Amino acid sequence: MTEDIYTYEVKCRTCRTKFKMQLFESHERNLFLVDKKDWYCEKCKKEYFGKETAKLVEAHQAIGFPELKGTRKMVSWGEKIRGELINKLDYLRKSLKFENDDQRELSEKAFHLFFKEWREKTEAKWWIDHRRMTVRDISKRVEEISVSIQG
Ligand SMILES: [Zn+2]
Repeated sequence: MTEDIYTYEVKCRTCRTKFKMQLFESHERNLFLVDKKDWYCEKCKKEYFGKETAKLVEAHQAIGFPELKGTRKMVSWGEKIRGELINKLDYLRKSLKFENDDQRELSEKAFHLFFKEWREKTEAKWWIDHRRMTVRDISKRVEEISVSIQG
């Protein structure tokens, strides 16, 4: 078998430039992919990711997060991870139930301080290093902050 068998010509969705891709499924399935999948050439892909990152930067600035520092690639990745972690934080916050107003108030203070900690993490590398942080990890840290407020 030669490489040619797997090589297909696809068209960039944005600039319509044709380029070659290797596809490794059945010939029929490959033809389907060539036709239906959204293909982007390297140049458009770069621009696309730039735009996606720009959107995240904007959304994060709106909720008080500064721009990340690092190489373009790291910032792009870091912003994506930061977005995912903020979603986890939101999820946790919404899932909490309180027995009384004191509890609610304490929780709000703890979340406020937790947010402040995250806002100070301006290196893209920090977010990349913490990409595996779970809702449970976040919950644990918020709990620690709660305890320190009470103490
Ligand atoms: Zn293109």
